Amino acid sequence: MAIRRILTYPEPSLRSASREVENITGDTVRWIDDMVQTMYAAPGVGLAAPQLGLDQRIIVVDVGEQEEDGSPGENLVKLINPVIVESEGEIVWEEGCLSVIDFRAEVKRAGHILVRGYDPDQREVQIEAEGLLAVALQHEIDHLEGRLFIDHVSRLKRDMYAKRARKAIREGKPTARSKPAGGEI
Ligand code: ZN
Repeated sequence: MAIRRILTYPEPSLRSASREVENITGDTVRWIDDMVQTMYAAPGVGLAAPQLGLDQRIIVVDVGEQEEDGSPGENLVKLINPVIVESEGEIVWEEGCLSVIDFRAEVKRAGHILVRGYDPDQREVQIEAEGLLAVALQHEIDHLEGRLFIDHVSRLKRDMYAKRARKAIREGKPTARSKPAGGEI
């Protein structure tokens, strides 16, 4: 297992849709282990494969309490080729993202969702989610489509963020991140 570098805005590959996983292989499982380790190390509550530069439809999410020894919590979800099959209601949550440094904003999403996908053992799984889990799953599945949470905020806010990020890069400020505020997905 390895902690990998998380790509950050405006990295172009974060904007492309990821490919379906056609075979769940040993490589897939190793990648998922790296994703989990990288998510916990960040720390974040979710991570999608394209955030590590991997063009595959894989997400990991853990909205539970982090174990003190850094081992995976019982709320850890690993999903391959996840699809939202039902959604209803509405929830507004202040989101942050490990790939969008130093920016948080309220985003409106479906309040209840049903997600289907596969686990690393090739079993079909179905997850019914609400609250933060519903938010995190939608946020991560967005990553698989090349969408970032800033696409859900007003154009004004998004443009302000884009300007700030360009300035930070011009000034040679790290896009390698300062410690996340917590709760990034
Ligand atoms: Zn994110």
